[in-house]
Amino acid sequence: MDGQQTIAGRVQRVRERIAAACAAAGRDPEGVALVAVSKTQPPEAVREAADCGLRVFGENRVQEAGFKIPLCPGHLDWHLVGHLQANKARPAVRLFSTIHSVDSIDLLRRIDAIAGEEGRRPRVLLEVNVSGEGSKEGMRPDDVPAALEAANGLHCVEVAGFMTMPPYCEDPERARGFFRALRGLRDRCAAATGFALPELSMGMSMDFEVAIGEGATLVRVGTDLFGARGSPWRPAGGAET
Ligand SMILES: *Cc1c(COP(=O)(O)O)cnc(C)c1O
Repeated sequence: MDGQQTIAGRVQRVRERIAAACAAAGRDPEGVALVAVSKTQPPEAVREAADCGLRVFGENRVQEAGFKIPLCPGHLDWHLVGHLQANKARPAVRLFSTIHSVDSIDLLRRIDAIAGEEGRRPRVLLEVNVSGEGSKEGMRPDDVPAALEAANGLHCVEVAGFMTMPPYCEDPERARGFFRALRGLRDRCAAATGFALPELSMGMSMDFEVAIGEGATLVRVGTDLFGARGSPWRPAGGAET
């Protein structure tokens, strides 16, 4: 177990688990990108993970990301994985290359309009609530075709695939059906539209092996890389919201 309590040790362990899950699924590990979810963690932790070769980092709050990203190494690729409020769309477009959490056509259109004004071309994923559980964010599977149709008319966003967050459960096997449902939806939508939809963002610390078995291309891992989380990070003396 030595070394596992350092970020370097944890990164190595997560990489081994990804490699093992890919081997078990007969997949090329190159096809699975690790999104290091650094929410609540300080810039020093991001730097330590970046020193291990991680490049893609995920944040769930626009304001926290706005404080943190300028203090992190400049070559990193930042993804927004958490819910995006319409009024934070502009800073989100400025900060992130990829937004995993687009859950309405209105938000998609807004991101497109702002991206045009900002001269950006973000990749976006449609967040889908495949479990049908009321408390979870994400669009209903039935609403996805209309969102893709709307995306067809947009020029500054690239809809690259789907993301899902299954309901929390101790047993990672319980998430398998939700991951499989997202992939099935993707396969049907890709066949029915001109969209390639290559990306499936699914799986977190507890269940990313299961997600890789079901076709995940982006796994979002926080706790198993950085350890337990506290409250959102802000610079000393940073403004309250
Ligand atoms: C926090 C978060 C994660 C990472 O969760 P862990 O269980 O810590 O790996 C992944 N995705 C989203 C959307 C998150 O908010």
